[in-house]
Amino acid sequence: MNEKRLNKKLFRSIVICLGIAATILMVWFGVLSMMNDSLNEMMSEQMETEAREYRRRITRQIDKDFQTLHTLSAFFTCEDVTKSDDFDDSLCRANQNNNFIGMAYFGMDGTGTMVQKENGMKTQMDYRELNEMVQGIMEKAYRGEPALSDLFDSTIVSDRIFVYALPVFDEQKNVMGVLSAGNNVETFEEVLASDRVINGTGSVSLVNEEGEVLLSLSENDDPDIVKELFESSLDEEEEQKDAESLLGTVRKEEGIYTHLDCGKREYHVYLTPVKVNGWYVMCINSRGHGNYVANQMVNTLGSVFLMLLVLILSLLICICHMIAKNNKNLTELAYQDALTGADNLLRFQGNLTAVRKMENQFCLVILNVHQFKFVNEIFGVKEANRFLCNIAGGIEEHLGEEEFFCRESGDNFYLYLKEDDERVIRDRIEALMDDICITMVDEKVDYQILLYAGAVLYDERDGVLSNELLITRARFATKYCKMLPGEFLHFYDEEIHKSEEMENYVETHMHQALEREEFQLFLQPKMDLEDGSLGGAEALVRWVPEDRDIIYPGAFIPQFERNGFCVQLDMYMAEMVFKQIRAWMDEGISPIPISVNQSKLMFFDAHYIRFMADLVEKYQVPANLITLEILEGLALEHAKELNRKLERLREMGFRISMDDFGSGYASFNTLANLEIDELKLDRSFLLEMSEEKGGRYARIMGNIINLAKSMGIVTVTEGVERAEDEELIRNLGCDYGQGFLYSKPISAEEFTRRYMR
Ligand code: C2E
Ligand code: MG
Ligand code: MG
Repeated sequence: MNEKRLNKKLFRSIVICLGIAATILMVWFGVLSMMNDSLNEMMSEQMETEAREYRRRITRQIDKDFQTLHTLSAFFTCEDVTKSDDFDDSLCRANQNNNFIGMAYFGMDGTGTMVQKENGMKTQMDYRELNEMVQGIMEKAYRGEPALSDLFDSTIVSDRIFVYALPVFDEQKNVMGVLSAGNNVETFEEVLASDRVINGTGSVSLVNEEGEVLLSLSENDDPDIVKELFESSLDEEEEQKDAESLLGTVRKEEGIYTHLDCGKREYHVYLTPVKVNGWYVMCINSRGHGNYVANQMVNTLGSVFLMLLVLILSLLICICHMIAKNNKNLTELAYQDALTGADNLLRFQGNLTAVRKMENQFCLVILNVHQFKFVNEIFGVKEANRFLCNIAGGIEEHLGEEEFFCRESGDNFYLYLKEDDERVIRDRIEALMDDICITMVDEKVDYQILLYAGAVLYDERDGVLSNELLITRARFATKYCKMLPGEFLHFYDEEIHKSEEMENYVETHMHQALEREEFQLFLQPKMDLEDGSLGGAEALVRWVPEDRDIIYPGAFIPQFERNGFCVQLDMYMAEMVFKQIRAWMDEGISPIPISVNQSKLMFFDAHYIRFMADLVEKYQVPANLITLEILEGLALEHAKELNRKLERLREMGFRISMDDFGSGYASFNTLANLEIDELKLDRSFLLEMSEEKGGRYARIMGNIINLAKSMGIVTVTEGVERAEDEELIRNLGCDYGQGFLYSKPISAEEFTRRYMR
């Protein structure tokens, strides 16, 4: 996986994780808001219950007070005590026995007595002297209706009080006077505070229609909150309107639940009318106070969740950071050479691909150290490594802009040069090598380190090549350069490469080819020059692989001679020839003699003679139908031993031919030393004869033919391509001609079809 893909994956993972975190967050906010809603609902229900309870208590207190006055008035009626002398004292006593701060009785003339717990008694008092509000309720009471005043500041008792007024009826149910009593608002304090309702959090207040707080009972840590909520805000015109519209709504409804913001806190407010004097019970609770446990739970859960989220996000960031770091390390490991710090081949190939999109001409060079393993052995790995690092440094210094390099492994350095001129490249590489090549000195040795290089020039116009192919070619050029003495740089050569490739194929496939019978028998006719009849044929091997083109002997015989495989091949071909003659004989076709090429090594094989004898035996083919072609060079080296073997073969009936006579160090000694039956004059004679010195060659050839004839040796000329060639050799007295004029070598089957039927 490359760096880009790793980063892409990482980015995708981060996005997914963030997505998950965002989803969790959204779900959590959803849950929180649901919990919040239900908490609000619970709180509103709780506050409604509380407010109603307080309202009930206040109205009960008022009822109780009216009841007290009513009892007293009944007492006044039946005894008509109002007219007695000690009425004032009785009123005083009655006042002492209940919780009113003062009481008064006014007769129908509007005058009467007022008693107060603190200020004593005041007789002959006219109710019209009292303030307007009290006068109002008094008049209501004179009309026969009980009435209750609003709160007012009393000048008489110097307190904020309210007054009850109850008509007193005589026995005829006519109003005979008004009994009134006053009380201050603290009376309700006890009532409200006596036994808090439910959990009783927050504050309870009694407010009038103007939003004025008449009485406040605060249990929370902020007792002024009611004032803040109402009194302060009521100064503002708009807030006043708000409060009034709120109270207006409350008047219509049984109660109203709302939220108010004050300072940084949010308050829940429940207002319910007492339905007496425009009084309202107002319950106020801050969010934290109502449903304390539930709130605490929500808050704790929220905090835990947030902490968890923060933890998860931190972990995520840590993991991402680690992965990114890891990726970087991995990328470095994947693309960097650990020893020199240079790029490795993978990165080099990546760079090459990228650069090829812009450049269509460049050069790829592979640099190598001659016998680097000796450097390792002599100076040790540490020193050798240091040297490799120096090479990397040296290369870096010599690279131009947009050029790059890498170390593949060991002492293999790959360079990309933005050059296309062989001469310039040669100069640059030479300069680089001059800088890098040093003499390493050890206690015992001074070791001159040498470098060599292979290069391939790329030109897109010659055809697009893959990176791999370019590198393979550069490697080949480097390998080839190593074999060239004194050469420091070799440019890739297609021809050499092909032949090397072929050599490699031959070496690795020859055994398999023999087993698969890929070596096939081809025959080339040998014509009698006297009458033009078929005088014989030469067996020539063809390698026909399954998966590639036919391979001609020139591409593998020299290699087989070097690696010794030609012994096996020659034996195989000899047997094929025996088989073919046998097949003709079996088909009733009169056979012709066939020549088989025998390599030098055959004659050094201990089983050679035996093998040939066995073939004669096995196929029952007369040995004189087989001509063994030997090369003249053979005679030069081991004439004695060769002669012995040839003699033996001739005794067995085989005919011996000397092939390619005149192509190498032809020596007439050969003719003198070896007992042969046939002499094959090399194709080069005919080639030379068409040249300037043709006449001289013709005379030499004529003499050779005559000499051979005089020794009873049959002559064959190879390479007869034109009718003039045939004419010429016929005139020179040659017996047989072989060449493309008659036929190219053809498969045994075709030869049989063409010549043997
Ligand atoms: P060679 O034995 O001298 O065979 C004659 C070569 O000359 C053949 O090449 C043949 O195709 C070629 N030739 C024949 N007529 C003409 C002509 O008119 N013009 C030209 N230009 N060439 C002509 P081939 O088949 O490629 O064989 C090359 C050599 O390989 C042979 O030379 C022989 O030395 C060797 N060879 C072939 N088959 C065998 C084999 O089975 N065993 C061994 N040891 N060597 C073999
Ligand atoms: Mg031959
Ligand atoms: Mg030949």
